[in-house]
Amino acid sequence: MTLAHMTQKTAAVERILAVAEPLFLAASYADVTMDQIARKAGFTKGGLYHHFPSKEALYLAMMQTDLAEKQTLFTAMAQSGGDCRSRLRCLTQAFFELPDPKRQLISLVRRNSNALGDAARARLISAYQQALPNQILSIIKSGIRTGEIQTVDARLLAWSFVALVETAISAHGDRVLEESGKKLDFVLDLFFRGACGPKDSGLGQAATTSTAANSGSAVTAPTAYTGTGVFPEWQDQDLAGLLLACRDLVEDGDFPTVQRWRDGGGRVLGHFQVYFPEEIAHAAGLLPFKLRGAPVEPDHADSRFGSYLCSILKTSLELVLSDRVELDMFVTHPICDAARNLAAVWERNSEHPCQILYLPQNANSADSARYLRNEYARLLEVVQQVAGTTITDDDLRGSIELFNRNRTLIRELYQIKRETPWLLNAEDAYCLVSVGGMVPREEHNALLETVLPMIREQADSNQEDRVRVVFEGGFCEQPPLDLIRMVGRSCYVVDDDFLIGLRWILEDVPSTGDPLHQLAQAYLEKSSYSPVQHDLRKPKEKMLKERISVARADAAIITAAKMCEPGLEEQVCYTRSLDEDGIGYFVSEFEENMTSFDHLGLQIETFMENLMYQ
Ligand code: SF4
Repeated sequence: MTLAHMTQKTAAVERILAVAEPLFLAASYADVTMDQIARKAGFTKGGLYHHFPSKEALYLAMMQTDLAEKQTLFTAMAQSGGDCRSRLRCLTQAFFELPDPKRQLISLVRRNSNALGDAARARLISAYQQALPNQILSIIKSGIRTGEIQTVDARLLAWSFVALVETAISAHGDRVLEESGKKLDFVLDLFFRGACGPKDSGLGQAATTSTAANSGSAVTAPTAYTGTGVFPEWQDQDLAGLLLACRDLVEDGDFPTVQRWRDGGGRVLGHFQVYFPEEIAHAAGLLPFKLRGAPVEPDHADSRFGSYLCSILKTSLELVLSDRVELDMFVTHPICDAARNLAAVWERNSEHPCQILYLPQNANSADSARYLRNEYARLLEVVQQVAGTTITDDDLRGSIELFNRNRTLIRELYQIKRETPWLLNAEDAYCLVSVGGMVPREEHNALLETVLPMIREQADSNQEDRVRVVFEGGFCEQPPLDLIRMVGRSCYVVDDDFLIGLRWILEDVPSTGDPLHQLAQAYLEKSSYSPVQHDLRKPKEKMLKERISVARADAAIITAAKMCEPGLEEQVCYTRSLDEDGIGYFVSEFEENMTSFDHLGLQIETFMENLMYQ
C-alpha cells in the first residue's frame, strides 16, 4: 500500500468514527445502523464495510480511539506534581472540562456494554480501565504510601471515587451543583473528609480501627488457592475469544490478575528473569509473578539506572515504583553485570524484602546440586516469613506435581507449534505461555487444558508454504508483541526461547525424596539453556542447532535485546556455528518499547523470500 493510500484510508476511518460518535450518543446501540453511518459519512454501505467488518467492530474502534485519547490526557494529570488530592483534582477537572459529547462518550461504556459480544466487551472494559480507573488507582496508591489516604483497598477506593464523579455529573448533580467548580469541591471534599456532620457519627473511629487492622504487622497465612479465577475473561469463550483475552492480559501493563489476587487477600512474590523455582512460592500460598518488564516508559526508574543498560531492568523497577504492581517480596539473580545491581536499587526503593538467588556459577561442579539445594532452603526461610506460614515437604511435593502438569501442557503447546504451526500463530502461542507468569498455576493449567484441544480441533486447511524458523534471543527482555506478530506473519515460528524461565525444566521433577534437592537437580540436569547459564555440557550453539533440528526449522532469527551483553555476545557464537553448517539466519536487535517495525518487517520479508528462492 502506498503512503497516499494509507493517508486516504486513515482519513476515511477518522471521518467514519467522527460521524458515528453523535449517532451512538443520540440513540441506543441497537437503533444505530450501518446504513445511517454510511449515509452520514458519505460512503456506500459496501465502502463502510470495507473499513469495518461489522457495527460492533466500528463501535469498538470508535470507543477505543476515544479512550486512548483520554488515557493520554488522564495519565498526564495522574503524573502531574503535587500531593494526592491535587492530582485527583487535576484529573477530575480535566474530565469536567472535556467538551460535553466527549465527556458523555465515556458513559456509553456502561450503557452499551451488554449489547456487545464477550470479546468486544472485554476489550472495551480493558480500554476504559486503563483510561480512567487505573489512573485514579495509581494516584490513590501513592496517597496510601505517603499517608494522605488510609490503608484500605486501593481499588475499592478508586471505584468509589469514579462513582462520586459519576454522581456529580448526573442530571441531579447538574441541577444541584450547577457548575464544575462546585462539582469538583463536592467530589474531593466527600472523598477526603466524608459526609460526617458537626456531630461525629462515629465513622472516624471506625476508620481508625480499620486502618490499624489493615496496617498491622501480623502476617496471616494466605488462604490456599481455591480455584476462584483471577483471570475469568478466558472462561466460556470460543477459541478466538479465549486467545483475545490472553492477548489483552499480556498487553495490559497494569497486570490486573496480580491486583485481583491481592484483592482476595493473597500475597505476591515477584521474580526477575530468567529462572526461579516457583514451586517454593506456590507451596507457601504466594502468587509467583514473573517480572519481565513491560512496554512502559520508565519515568521513575530512568534516574536509577544508566542509559547504557537494557530496558527490562528499568521497566521492571518502574512497574513497582509507579504502583502498577505491588509485591510482597522480590527475588532477583545476578544473571549479568547489569542485573547485579537490581537488588540494591530495589531495596532502596521498596519496603518489601528483596532476595538474591545465587544460582550456581559453575553448573558442572560436583557440589553444585548440594549448593543449590541449600540456597533454595535459605530462600524458603524468607518465603515462609513473608507468607506467615510453614512449608512442609508435602506442600512442596504437591506444588512440584502441579508444575509438572504445567510443564507437560506447555510441552504439548510447543509440539503444536512444531508439528502444526498453522494452527497457532506465534503471538498467541507466546501469550498462552506468558499468562502462566501472571496467574496461579492451577488456573494456567485449566486454561491450557481447555485451549489445547480447541486448537487441535481446528480445520487443518490453513497450512501454507512458509519458511520454518527458530526465534532465539527472548530469554530475558521480551520482544514487543507486535514484533512477534510481525515475524509470525512472514514465517512459521516453530520454536523459540521466549520466557524460557517458565519452561526451563524440560522433564518432570520427581515428587519423591527431598523436594528441594529434586528441584536443584532438575535445574542442573533436566534444563534448557540460555546465555546466562554456563554449563560446559551444553554449548549454546550446539543447543541452538539441536533446537533447529528437532523443530525441523529452515533458518533462525537471532536477536538480542539492545544493550544486553550476554545476548549480544552469544550472537557471535550462534552465527559462526550456523555458518559452519550452512543454516540461514537473520540477525537483529529489539527493545521492549519499540513501536515501529516497518523497516525490520521489510528486512525479514526479504530474508524469507531469499530462503524460499534458494
Ligand atoms: S536483558 Fe540482558 S543485560 Fe538486561 S538484565 Fe537481561 S541478561 Fe542482563
